[in-house]
Amino acid sequence: MTERLYYQNSFLYDFTASVAEARTLPDGRRALVLDRTAFYATSGGQPHDTGWLDFIAAGSDAPLPLPKLRVTEVIEDEATGAILHLVESLPEALPPRVRGFLDVERRQDHMQQHSGQHVLSAAFLKLFAAPTVSFHLGEESCTIDLDTPALTAAQLEQAERHANQVVWEDRQVLMHEVTPEQARKAGVRKLPEAAHATLRLIEVRGVDLCACGGTHVLTTGQIGNIQLRKAEKVKQGIRVEFVCGARALRAARRDFQLLTETAALYSAQLSELPAQT
Ligand SMILES: [Zn+2]
Repeated sequence: MTERLYYQNSFLYDFTASVAEARTLPDGRRALVLDRTAFYATSGGQPHDTGWLDFIAAGSDAPLPLPKLRVTEVIEDEATGAILHLVESLPEALPPRVRGFLDVERRQDHMQQHSGQHVLSAAFLKLFAAPTVSFHLGEESCTIDLDTPALTAAQLEQAERHANQVVWEDRQVLMHEVTPEQARKAGVRKLPEAAHATLRLIEVRGVDLCACGGTHVLTTGQIGNIQLRKAEKVKQGIRVEFVCGARALRAARRDFQLLTETAALYSAQLSELPAQT
């Protein structure tokens, strides 16, 4: 079982660890297992981290004269709880220690999207009794599937406004480790089906309490903002597409540029665009 350093500290971007073993996957890819790691392995709708591993000398953080290993994917061996760092190549003789460096921009992006999802899911639950049944954090945008037959445009806007209010209140995001019994008593929003001795709960103070293994911001202000992009009917209810933080800024910038270029084609103001034919 690899110790997950991100459970306690999602802002740990640089760490040292001992090499436990090297593995070759059935498809021929090579993986390194460490005694502890700050790299998040794909699970619960959140994709893995990427970054680098540097072999270091025993008893110091000085790098050895070996090529850095690019960590391209991180997966969990569910049978043993080992976290596998997939790398492009491995030296014949493995040094005993590494220093790991995360791709910080990717981690921060994932924290903004995932914490934003908790806040948004809580808003849909509170306002319209619409529980979230699944979450997907994609390369471009994120989605939640809500167990509800329909949502109007006004309801979507209301949920967006409510969720952003929670962001602006800059509430604390806390982590608790509890027994399943304690979790049930505390009224947790979503409990895992599989049996666990302890559960990791993520609390958005006063707003949401949810069992989750993901990486999260420290206060809701760090989410930046939450922007709904689309809603569509799917088999299990309504799928809502959204972006948070830096992604929301990029999306708004792209929209504005597109509108400005389109308006120039018609020699019109942005507000006059819908009237153009
Ligand atoms: Zn979560």
